[in-house]
Amino acid sequence: MPCRTTDELNELVQKAKYYTFGGKVADYIPALAKANPEELSVAIFHEDGTCVSAGDIQQKLTLQSVSKVLTLALALMDYGEEAVFDKVGYEPTGDPFNSIVKLEFSPSKPLNPMINAGALAVTNMIKGKDADDRFNRILTFIQDLAGNSSIGYSQEVAESEYRTSDLNRALSYFLKQHGVIEEDVEELLMVYTKQCAIEMDCLDLARIGCVFAMDGLEPVTNRRLIPAHVARLCKTFMVTCGMYNASGEFAVRVGIPAKSGVSGGIMGSVPNRFGIGILGPALDEKGNSIGGIKLLEMMSAKYNMSMF
Ligand code: GLU
Repeated sequence: MPCRTTDELNELVQKAKYYTFGGKVADYIPALAKANPEELSVAIFHEDGTCVSAGDIQQKLTLQSVSKVLTLALALMDYGEEAVFDKVGYEPTGDPFNSIVKLEFSPSKPLNPMINAGALAVTNMIKGKDADDRFNRILTFIQDLAGNSSIGYSQEVAESEYRTSDLNRALSYFLKQHGVIEEDVEELLMVYTKQCAIEMDCLDLARIGCVFAMDGLEPVTNRRLIPAHVARLCKTFMVTCGMYNASGEFAVRVGIPAKSGVSGGIMGSVPNRFGIGILGPALDEKGNSIGGIKLLEMMSAKYNMSMF
C-alpha cells in the first residue's frame, strides 16, 4: 500500500532539515561517506497497515547498529535469556559505541548488546552451519519482520567495512582471548559487516519498528514473529542504550524505544501505536542522525509519543 503524506509531517521534516547542516556523514566506513548529508525522510507504519511518510522514502539505508536489536532478538529466540546474558550484560556504558575501555574491567562480558563488543558477542551466537548460513538466517528473519522478501545487503558497504574493521577486529580478538566468542574472528566479522550492510528503505524500517511496538506481532495479520518477552526485552535495551551515549537525553526529550545507526537510520517503536523509520545521514558528535533526532523531538511533542 503506498504511503500518504501529510502537510503536517512534511512541515516537521522541513524544519528538522535545517539542523542537518550542523552534522557530518560517517566516513570511518568509506562507502558511507558518499551519503547525501541533506537527506531527511521518515515513514510511520501503523498496526493496521496504514502509513504516512515525508521526504524521499525510496532512498535506501544500511542498518548498521540498528541490526544489533534484531540479532539480539534472534539470539534470544535461538538460545533463551540465560545463555545470551551469560555472554553479555544489561548495563548502559555512557561510552561511544566502539569503545574498548570498559571491556578491560569486565573482560568476560561486554556491558550490553548495543555496543559493538556486545553486538559482536551476540552475532557470534547466531545458529547456523557456517558463516553464510548464519548470515542468511539473520537476513531471512529481517525480511520476515519487514514483510519484504526482496531486502538484501549492500556488498559495497559490507566490503568497505570489512576492510576497515580494525577496531572491531581488535574487540573481537580481545573477546576471543577471554572466551566470550569462540569462532574464527574473520568469519565473525564477515557475518557482522554483512548484517550491518542489510539495506532497506524507511518504510521497511518503520514496519519492523511496528512489530516491536506491538510486542512482536506482525501488523495487520497479528501473526506472532517474536515472543512478547523477547520484543519487550529488546525495547528495554532500545530505551537504555539504543541512542548510543545520548540515550538518557533522548529518553527525556523523545521518550520512546529507538535504535540508531551510523548510516543515519533510526528505528522507533511507539508502544501499541506505530513504528517509525528515519533516514538522515548527517550525524551529531555521538553518531546519531542530527536531523532525525530533531524530527523525533518535534514528532514526540506533536503526537504525544513519550511513554513516560
Ligand atoms: N557497522 C558499524 C560498526 O560496527 C555499526 C556502528 C553503528 O552503526 O553504530 O562500526
